[in-house]
Amino acid sequence: MPSYDNETQEILCPNCNKKIVLRNSDIYLKREVRCKWCNSVSKFDVPSTTNFRHAVENLAKAEKILDLAIQKVLEKAEIKPK
Ligand SMILES: [Zn+2]
Repeated sequence: MPSYDNETQEILCPNCNKKIVLRNSDIYLKREVRCKWCNSVSKFDVPSTTNFRHAVENLAKAEKILDLAIQKVLEKAEIKPK
């Protein structure tokens, strides 16, 4: 799981209009959030969360590719003291 899952977002509760803090994974895994102020549950639209999940997967793949590229550079580089 990418660390991106644990980053937090703030939204306004559609019921009481107060700030709710939620994790990214709440959006695309649980697809709902409970407001701690008024206790109402807000659901996230499925098509948009599907696209979001896809974007997160692409991000994770891109991070892996970047990691591999950095490792290859390190393998080939001659590291000398300056
Ligand atoms: Zn609320």
